[in-house]
Amino acid sequence: MIPIEIPPNTVMLRGHGWDSNVYLVKDEDEALIIDTGTGVYWHKYMDVWLNENYLNGIERITIFNTHEHFDHVGGNPAFRRYFEERGIKVYFAAHRYTAQALESGDDYVILSFYYGRSYTPHEVHLKLGDGDTLRVGKLRLTLIHTPGHTRGSACLYEPEEKLLFTGDTIFNGTVGRTDLPTGNLEMLKKSIERLGRLDVYLGLPGHGGIIKNWKENFEYVKHLLEEQE
Ligand SMILES: [Zn+2]
Repeated sequence: MIPIEIPPNTVMLRGHGWDSNVYLVKDEDEALIIDTGTGVYWHKYMDVWLNENYLNGIERITIFNTHEHFDHVGGNPAFRRYFEERGIKVYFAAHRYTAQALESGDDYVILSFYYGRSYTPHEVHLKLGDGDTLRVGKLRLTLIHTPGHTRGSACLYEPEEKLLFTGDTIFNGTVGRTDLPTGNLEMLKKSIERLGRLDVYLGLPGHGGIIKNWKENFEYVKHLLEEQE
């Protein structure tokens, strides 16, 4: 597995198998992990981080889930266990609707059974709303609530480098599906319209490759959505 470095603070790991992409953002002694895959291959991501010394000096980690689907949250317990056993503090963060699903272990919304699993509920320490910020060292990432794929779906915007972590809301060349529990096409259209107004250098999606030309991709997917009317 080859890490894709996005200087100065971000590393992308492409999801293995059904896994979501897994991102690491770090500054000073803090790190943020964005999505954790199904949990089946968590050690592959950890091995890369360890081999490349990405986690050296990290004392506090926040795990943010862009939404509650199992292929994005299934690795949460494994990552937490690994870090806590090494004395690193771990906090979970998500939009409050996603937090609700994770804290209640809502297998219907999480889609755990689709992966032959059941989700063990856990506390989400930071229940965020639209416009709230997540701190990683000196960095401040802003949560943008983007319901549509699920009602708790959210993107994170890092304004210094103009990075947008998009989860399953928008991908390179397509958008998230809306036929799963709590999905809603009209909401997705509004969310994507809102993202289209942002100044984005790189879009970093939950699956697939980096969105390098934000405006062009936005116009393209907008056209796709119009065809669905
Ligand atoms: Zn999803």
